[in-house]
Amino acid sequence: MENVIKPDLLSLTKDELAELVRSVSENEPQYRVDQIYKQLQGGIELSQMTNIPKALKTRLEEVSQSRLPKIHTRLVSAIDGTVKYLFELCDGNCIESVVMKYKHGNTICISTQVGCRMGCKFCASTIGGRVRDLTSGEMLGQILVAQKDMGERISNVVMMGIGEPLDNYDNTVRFLHALNSPDGLNIGYRHVSLSTCGIVPKIYELASLNLPITLSISLHAPTDEARSEIMPINKKYPIAELMEACREYYSENGRRISFEYTLISGKNDSPENALSLASLLNSSLRRKGSGMPIHVNLIPVNDVTESGFRRSGKASIERFAAVLEAKGIRATVRRRLGPDINASCGQLRRKNAETSDKGKNEE
Ligand code: SAH
Repeated sequence: MENVIKPDLLSLTKDELAELVRSVSENEPQYRVDQIYKQLQGGIELSQMTNIPKALKTRLEEVSQSRLPKIHTRLVSAIDGTVKYLFELCDGNCIESVVMKYKHGNTICISTQVGCRMGCKFCASTIGGRVRDLTSGEMLGQILVAQKDMGERISNVVMMGIGEPLDNYDNTVRFLHALNSPDGLNIGYRHVSLSTCGIVPKIYELASLNLPITLSISLHAPTDEARSEIMPINKKYPIAELMEACREYYSENGRRISFEYTLISGKNDSPENALSLASLLNSSLRRKGSGMPIHVNLIPVNDVTESGFRRSGKASIERFAAVLEAKGIRATVRRRLGPDINASCGQLRRKNAETSDKGKNEE
């Protein structure tokens, strides 16, 4: 059974860890399990735990593995202190995380998959397809390693890096529970946002868990025709179904939903597009007097060489926001953090893959 993948310790719940510990050492007391769990969730690897008997560590190491990511590249913005990490995973694959510094604390944007299979036309992460899902331990690992490296606490998490979190649903939910654990990072659900391109059945599943996290919907276009053109997922789950799922999410847990709208010059940034977006949101989410708070995040599209899309000019962005506001929809234009380090996700990984591919060809 050479190829059986050994469990990744940081992905286990405390009960699962207890079971694993007792499978190698039958009479191990609960406090040992607690000690190991707490240290793992604090970013300490088994081999570095000084208060665990060596024999137990050796036996556990035989049946498990550690998957803490390693820092491959770190870029720090000289403009706003944003830190971008290219992490190398245990199998050599790379992912990205970005830590943004705000007055209210540090926010990390984490990846949930190696690559992505959603195929959004403007996005760098999807260009090579999906390689594999991240384990929940690998999601936690990005936070733990970044936090240790920076020597500062990370208090907010956005799942907006490489990958589609709801296409890796089980690991995502496992991650959310661990993140919130008092024995772990203890980050409150209200400090977590999950961004999705709109996998409707999974939005219902998430809603039924009743976790008060913020849901961000990557909408990017107000009509099915326009959305399907840039986001293939829309052909499977069209806008009306997506809006219905958002209503359900809101009625389950009362959390505000935010909509991401990437402004692409000449494609979706006209005042007519803004009017049609406002009427979509107002008519489908504020029906029957529901006071659902709606927030639209306008993101000037980041250049991705392969997409050929250009960002909208300042004037059209402001006009777009003004139309939404006039229709009662709060809109903010996302400030571009770390412009000098190309902090938008997906691009560093691609660049790294390209240079290592070149290296391979030259060998
Ligand atoms: N798969 C998830 C999360 C990752 S993408 C999702 O689709 O939401 C995170 C956000 O960045 C999404 O809103 C996505 O649409 C946006 N994004 C992707 N490529 C972009 C680009 N080139 N410029 C601006 N925003 C982009």
